Amino acid sequence: MNYRATAVVNDGVRAMMESALTARDRVGVQDFVLLENHTSEVAFIENLRKRFKENLIYTYIGSVLVSVNPYKDLEIYTKQHMERYRGVNFYEVSPHIYAISDNAYRSMRTERRDQCILISGESGAGKTEASKKVLQYYAVTCPASGHVETVKDRLLQSNPVLEAFGNAKTLRNDNSSRFGKYMDIQFDFKGAPVGGHIINYLLEKSRVVHQSHGERNFHIFYQLIEGGEEDLLRRLGLERTPQQYQYLVKGQCPKVSSINDRNEWKVVRKALTVIGFSDDEVEELLNIIASVLHLGNVQFGGEDGGNAYITTDTQIKYLARETSKNASVIGLLDIYGFEVFQNNSFEQFCINYCNEKLQQLFIELTLKSEQEEYEAEGITWEPVQYFNNKIICDLVEEKFKGIISILDEECLRPGDASDLTFLEKLEKTLGGHAHFVTHKLADGKTRKMMGREDFRMIHYAGEVNYNVNGFLDKNNDLLFRNLKEVMCLSENKILTQCFDREELTDKKRPETAATQFKNSLAKLMEILMSKEPSYVRCIKPNDAKQAGRFDEVLIRHQVKYLGLMENLRVRRAGFAYRRRYEIFLQRYKSLCPDTWPSWDGRLVDGVSTLVKHLGYKPEEYKLGRSKIFIRFPKTLFATEDALET
Ligand code: ATP
Ligand code: MG
Repeated sequence: MNYRATAVVNDGVRAMMESALTARDRVGVQDFVLLENHTSEVAFIENLRKRFKENLIYTYIGSVLVSVNPYKDLEIYTKQHMERYRGVNFYEVSPHIYAISDNAYRSMRTERRDQCILISGESGAGKTEASKKVLQYYAVTCPASGHVETVKDRLLQSNPVLEAFGNAKTLRNDNSSRFGKYMDIQFDFKGAPVGGHIINYLLEKSRVVHQSHGERNFHIFYQLIEGGEEDLLRRLGLERTPQQYQYLVKGQCPKVSSINDRNEWKVVRKALTVIGFSDDEVEELLNIIASVLHLGNVQFGGEDGGNAYITTDTQIKYLARETSKNASVIGLLDIYGFEVFQNNSFEQFCINYCNEKLQQLFIELTLKSEQEEYEAEGITWEPVQYFNNKIICDLVEEKFKGIISILDEECLRPGDASDLTFLEKLEKTLGGHAHFVTHKLADGKTRKMMGREDFRMIHYAGEVNYNVNGFLDKNNDLLFRNLKEVMCLSENKILTQCFDREELTDKKRPETAATQFKNSLAKLMEILMSKEPSYVRCIKPNDAKQAGRFDEVLIRHQVKYLGLMENLRVRRAGFAYRRRYEIFLQRYKSLCPDTWPSWDGRLVDGVSTLVKHLGYKPEEYKLGRSKIFIRFPKTLFATEDALET
């Protein structure tokens, strides 16, 4: 079968479920579109709870996969499981990340359309684990050819390296990705993986020098210290005591029982080789890591004249050393979900802006295009009301009057520019905007319950207050020129690649952090727009990282911020399949004596004759201007089966 299962109603399953009501009571429905009361959030969450209790962590909303982090290892990722999902139709097996992976792969192969799998959810919800499962699935099930084993190995081994340098223990997640990641895998015409790219977004750089209480720096520092071979550490001038390095102890937990840095080191060191770093390059890389640690221990003393001098000679000694054309693509996006904390700053602003863009993409790719297609085809149906969040994206990114423009303007303005003048300018420019609020009311009075240094955005998923403190500094993200010069002079090849000499001669001011982020998001959106999307929505069941605990308040919050009820509403209303008349007729004309071997009349009449002959009931399909729309997957699968017999 070669049809993409954009399933609206999981019909085969419905039949099964309905004949086994007791089972359904116990385990819930495996597709939310089967819920009797599909507009009820209570029923939605109850269904999640039932399934979670039975270790059924996956549930569909049509073709969107909802996943609840089990916080324990389940026996559902074995090779046998992978085999079970290989080449099987979506609706025939229980919901699984492998079904999404397989479906995207088969759509890419049969329809020759690039795919992307978008994984979202808050910190600790299981995004990175899900993306690893997708990669493992492809590594095991895709055909091999030629150099493919190295490609597969590299795909899999890129993860430990990315995680060593980009993940850290936070209060929310012991292995939290502190960057957004888009990875694509290229497949040749035989469907074998032949290469890939990885793009990173918004790495949390500040973590290198500062970690909050209970959090750690990036894993690689601890891995090197704990696991690095004796002679390596000697060459780097490091001691095997993390406590001794300032940058490793800010959060006061350099050692954590759940993380085995020594073992991880072995994995990462091997992975570096597999993905193609030479021994010399690895040494240069680790030199940089070690330099950061030494740099953190440099101390300064004050002279009478107000000058600073370095009091730690040893550290300074170490510091001073210092694809093919026909390829199809499946992209994987593992990126931070909406963040709403007690205190939200520049980082949350960027992350939430990113989520607005992803919601916009979702609207463009699914809701809007779906509704537009029904209208264009003259299909009667109830339009689904949805909120188009373009107005919020504009609020952030519009030229001249968007928040980023105003922020950049303040960053460039000489004189008295500060976080507070930035806030004033926001008030002046955006005061009346429906999605922007500060403590100042239009009549000059003050809004209670709102800080004077805050602005509030009414996001598509809810309200978030941002504190402007630090916005200018973080956006400027400036490195002193003489520091850059020193870096350019280094003999370490990796460092000189990072600090481009040409940048120094270039008089142009470097782009601000927010503008860089905005531009990279625009590029990402372009990449994703050209692909057919699948969605994985991850939910964290509790804040304690515990198995079996289902915290309803926390889950309701995520159902809201992930827009799942809206998802469900749209999926319930739509049609599972649509095919152009000529394609439909061409494929199935042999099933009806009146259309075989060819149909001379109007295409729509031919299709109508064909489906009547096949026994389609009026409620099962609609005929548009150029396409047939089929409501349930079952109908089309039955027709496909008839073709095979
Ligand atoms: P962040 O945004 O902080 O990077 P995340 O959404 O990527 O968070 P993960 O790192 O994928 O979260 O998951 C957090 C932890 O939850 C994992 O380290 C693992 O212990 C557990 N976990 C997630 N998914 C699963 C799963 N399917 N099975 C078992 N455990 C899981
Ligand atoms: Mg992650």
